[in-house]
Amino acid sequence: MVEAWLVDLMTTYNRDSHAQRNGYLAQIHMPGEVFQTLIWWSLQSLPDEILVGIDVDAHRPHQREVEAYFEGDEVRKNLFQGQGYVLNEAHIVNRGDSYSVHHLPEDWTDDMFSSDRGSRAGRFTHWLHTHPNAPAIPSGADADASQETQGIDMILGLRFSPEGPLPWFDDVEGTRRTLKSSKPKKRKRSFFARHALPVLGKAPSGHAIHEIQLIGFHKSGVGVNIVFVDEEGYPFGWDPRTGQLLP
Ligand SMILES: [Zn+2]
Repeated sequence: MVEAWLVDLMTTYNRDSHAQRNGYLAQIHMPGEVFQTLIWWSLQSLPDEILVGIDVDAHRPHQREVEAYFEGDEVRKNLFQGQGYVLNEAHIVNRGDSYSVHHLPEDWTDDMFSSDRGSRAGRFTHWLHTHPNAPAIPSGADADASQETQGIDMILGLRFSPEGPLPWFDDVEGTRRTLKSSKPKKRKRSFFARHALPVLGKAPSGHAIHEIQLIGFHKSGVGVNIVFVDEEGYPFGWDPRTGQLLP
């Protein structure tokens, strides 16, 4: 089951993805269940970043009407491997700091992959890594690592507390895609309440989640639009009667 607060965030993110569709050449459909798992894993693995390999479900092409709805003016077919298929299971492949997370442990690379497949070994179609208490904006190391990706790379940025050894780090330039709450912000009377961060939801790890960001990009540097879908492949917030997102 996906938490109601997360469904709300994914719904507003989908509206943003639709509104910004002309800024993207391709899209990818991520089940809400998978996304929730990624958030829980990220918080359970602190203070490390995690690298997650994700495959597509070859039996689940994108719902055609949904794909058409999120298409921008310009569409690039065959931009990456697995394009047009809903994301499937995710697997944690590595953990470490912002540099080492991209380098798979040797026992992974030794027996399983031949050297010509590169350090990420083409084991998975898509890759996602986390930025604990930092925005989802790619670093130089992230851009380098993406060069071996067959599908796309994604970055999940989370702001949470207690922050442990990782205070929120915000000094990064780049395009941000934040999952916003649809609920209006309440006006707080007390000084302390006004300076407290909003709590979007609680994770099983006990962390309060204050902000979630997610971006997708192709190794060429172009952004890939992400759409959150339910078990049927329809976006959160979809109205089947009109074939559009609810306003
Ligand atoms: Zn990174």
